[in-house]
Amino acid sequence: MNKLICNAPHTSMFINQQNNIFPCCVFDQSKFGKRYTSIDEYLKSPELSDIKRKLETGIWPKGCHRCKYKQDIGIDNDADNYLNKIKKDNLDLNQILRPIYLDIRPGSDCNLKCRMCFPTASNLINEEFLKNPSMQKWHPIVNNYDFDMDQVIDFIQNNKIHTLKILGGEPTIDKNVFKLLNEISKYKKVQHLRFTTNATNLNKKFKTVISNFDKVTIHFSLDGVYETYNYIRTNANFKKVEKNIINIMREQPSFKYAFNIVLTPYNIFNLSDMLYWFLNLEKEGYTFHLDFNHSVANYTNLSAIKNKHRYEVIKEIEKKFSSIDTDLKIDYLITLLKNISHLKKNTNLFIKYNSELDNIRKTSLKKLDNRFVDYIE
Ligand code: SF4
Repeated sequence: MNKLICNAPHTSMFINQQNNIFPCCVFDQSKFGKRYTSIDEYLKSPELSDIKRKLETGIWPKGCHRCKYKQDIGIDNDADNYLNKIKKDNLDLNQILRPIYLDIRPGSDCNLKCRMCFPTASNLINEEFLKNPSMQKWHPIVNNYDFDMDQVIDFIQNNKIHTLKILGGEPTIDKNVFKLLNEISKYKKVQHLRFTTNATNLNKKFKTVISNFDKVTIHFSLDGVYETYNYIRTNANFKKVEKNIINIMREQPSFKYAFNIVLTPYNIFNLSDMLYWFLNLEKEGYTFHLDFNHSVANYTNLSAIKNKHRYEVIKEIEKKFSSIDTDLKIDYLITLLKNISHLKKNTNLFIKYNSELDNIRKTSLKKLDNRFVDYIE
């Protein structure tokens, strides 16, 4: 497999809220060809064989365009991450016959309505879009969630799972997730549990069940600090979330921690404050990893921001942080900020989308930063 681009179709399996199965979470689902909801049928499918064959022979399948784009511009991408992952986990690809990395989205129960999120991932956004039909032009609503948890439990119990990754909705409030963790922790069937949380509700019951796993990584979704955070993550309170994060990092020093930061027009002017917040956490002796990503929807994509503002932010970050010795991946963040350019079309979409949301939620983007006045007026 000299020309192997990515091993995800061999090693990984992604199941979304509608129970559709794909090789990984970044694969363009519209390009898979057929809908598979049974794990056995998916694993035997001609579509999966074709994707494997292409990636083994140096050909990018259509559904992998997001990884190709990122590789072409030289930024972190999942294809490379999967290649590195099996090396890091000391595994031999030839010995892996069924997926060992399982990535699931069991439901959409969530207590927040984050501005860059979708009805598929938050039942509250789904309800908001149902009540306000004009919002459905941005993203369709979802009428049914078919995630088959019993199928997943059965797969885990009958296979060797290296890493189970769970995103929601919000896993800490999803009864189905609790049932899954409770069940599989008894049999020690998963080596490494990774989950993403908004950290608003790290309740005792959830903390107890995750402590039964040998290795745990918690990814906190945090896309801003202070008022920017509260504005982006409707229903959340930054002070409370900060307290929850610090508490669990203190209580569980053996867990690993990461912060997922989605770059959007909302947080660009808050990036320096956010980096200072992370620097303080680092100074207090906590170890964590930062994972920056662009928002995929064009109406919340950073390309909505004018070039003059983007360069202002880049200069500010370079000035404030370039001489500081830190593991915060500042250079990587700057590369991401440089590798995007302004698209007027996306500015218009962003302003239109957000004005509608502001109207519904009785909020105001202008209050976040004066520079937004330039966009709205
Ligand atoms: S190349 Fe990217 S999108 Fe394609 S299977 Fe690998 S990780 Fe997934």
